[in-house]
Amino acid sequence: MTNKLRYFIANWKMYGDIMSLNSIDKVIKFTRLNKKKKFKLIYCPPYTLLYSFSKKIKNTNIGLGAQNCHSENDYGPYTGYINAKMIKKIGANYVIVGHSENRSYGESNLLINKKIKSAIKNKLNVIFCIGETIVEKKKKHTFRVIKSQIIKGLSGVKYFNKIIIAYEPVWSIGTGIVPTNLELIKNINFIKHILKKNLKAPRIKIIYGGSVNPNNVMNLNLINSIDGYLVGGASQNSKKFIDIVKKSFI
Ligand code: PEP
Repeated sequence: MTNKLRYFIANWKMYGDIMSLNSIDKVIKFTRLNKKKKFKLIYCPPYTLLYSFSKKIKNTNIGLGAQNCHSENDYGPYTGYINAKMIKKIGANYVIVGHSENRSYGESNLLINKKIKSAIKNKLNVIFCIGETIVEKKKKHTFRVIKSQIIKGLSGVKYFNKIIIAYEPVWSIGTGIVPTNLELIKNINFIKHILKKNLKAPRIKIIYGGSVNPNNVMNLNLINSIDGYLVGGASQNSKKFIDIVKKSFI
């Protein structure tokens, strides 16, 4: 395994209440004891916990992110939504955009592109999710789909250093099914090719997401082109989340 910085991003989805915060005490302790290891942990809890989380992780090097944002930069009459400015002001530095669970409710590449631009304008780093569905995979449309998601999602975006791409095959999310290393290498190489050729942005970090757990992470770590993981289910259990990080540094 290479000695590069690796990201471990916890997506808590619509789970967690104020009591869940206690569970990250051991994660804070773990990061303090392993300061020299090259990893960055980022928590993306539900909006309702962002403020408490920002207090909890103050004076640690754990990052904080929201799970989505509205595309409008300014405050406005959008009942039920939160924009990037609000997320920044509450103390977060990251936001997940384009998660397949939101794409499945109709978020288009155009809307995702607006969200990314708004996030960057508000000085947030973006965890930009892309990935094909099982139907698209079976039709052999994977390259076509991820190319279009990347090019449309990042159209007109200037600050590529603010972007982390999370490649998450939709059929891997929450299913326990992980692509083979060969398949992942092929798809990540393709993403790198598009970033270089179409966007002149070869240095964008690429992480993998989809059913990552302490049992499969060592095998995934054999892939040098992966810069870390977006972890859903397993990140809600601090021990499992720490184990994923530990197993990446054995
Ligand atoms: C996710 O929600 O981004 C995710 C990868 O979930 P899981 O790890 O549960 O598959």
